Amino acid sequence: MNRKAAAAATRPERSNFEPERDCSSCPRLAAYRTTNRVAEPQWHNAPVRNFGPAEARLLIVGLAPGLRGANRTGRPFTGDFAGDLLYQTLLEFGFAKGVYRASAEDDLQLVDCAITNAVRCAPPQNKPTPAEINGCRPFLAATLEAAPNLQVILALGRIAHESIIRAYGLKLSGVPFAHGAEHFLPRMDANSLLLFDSYHCSRYNTNTGVLTPQMFRAVFIRLRETMGANT
Ligand code: SF4
Repeated sequence: MNRKAAAAATRPERSNFEPERDCSSCPRLAAYRTTNRVAEPQWHNAPVRNFGPAEARLLIVGLAPGLRGANRTGRPFTGDFAGDLLYQTLLEFGFAKGVYRASAEDDLQLVDCAITNAVRCAPPQNKPTPAEINGCRPFLAATLEAAPNLQVILALGRIAHESIIRAYGLKLSGVPFAHGAEHFLPRMDANSLLLFDSYHCSRYNTNTGVLTPQMFRAVFIRLRETMGANT
C-alpha cells in the first residue's frame, strides 16, 4: 500500500473525530473506565474531547488523559501537573487567554491552538498498549483531517509523535522523535506542515530533569518564531 492509500485507510470521516462516550474499541480501557465510574461517579470518566478551535493553526498532541487530570475534569491536560506547565506556557506565548484554574469550568480559551491526545481514554499507569494506541488513531487522524488551517503540530512525547507519523501513513524511520526536533511533513495538498517534538510535560519528566520548564519554553520560542504573532 502506498503512503496516500495508507493515510486514507486510517482516516475516518471528518465528523468522526470525537469517540462515543462509551466507545468500547479498547476492552481494557473500557473496563478501567467502568471501574472508575463506580469509584468516582462525579468524574468525567469518558473519552476526553478535543479542546480549542478546529480552525487553529497549531495542534498539540499529548499521550492520554491522566486519571486525576483530564479523566476527572473532562478537558485535556486540565487538573494535573502536566496541565499546570502546559497552560502556563500557552498563556505566556499567547496561545491561550483567560485564567487557568485547573477546571473545565474556568474561562481559559485557546488562541489559534487546539489540544488532543493520541489516546482518548485514561490508561492504567498512564501506559496505553500498542493496540490501544492503534485503536484510537482513527480519532487522531480525523482530528488532523478536520483542521483546515493546520500548519504546525507539537507532539508531546514519543508515543504522540509516532501516532501522528502513522496517521499520515509515513515511515517512523524517516521521522525519528527527538526533543526539540522539527520535521517537515509532506502533505497531499500544497500547504506545508511542520511537526515539532518535545518531551512530555509530565510530572515525572520534570521531576527527573528530563524536561525543564526552560527546555519546554525553548520549544515554544521556536513555535512562535515559526508561526509569528497572533493577529
Ligand atoms: S482509547 Fe479511543 S479507541 Fe480506545 S476505547 Fe477510548 S476512545 Fe475508544
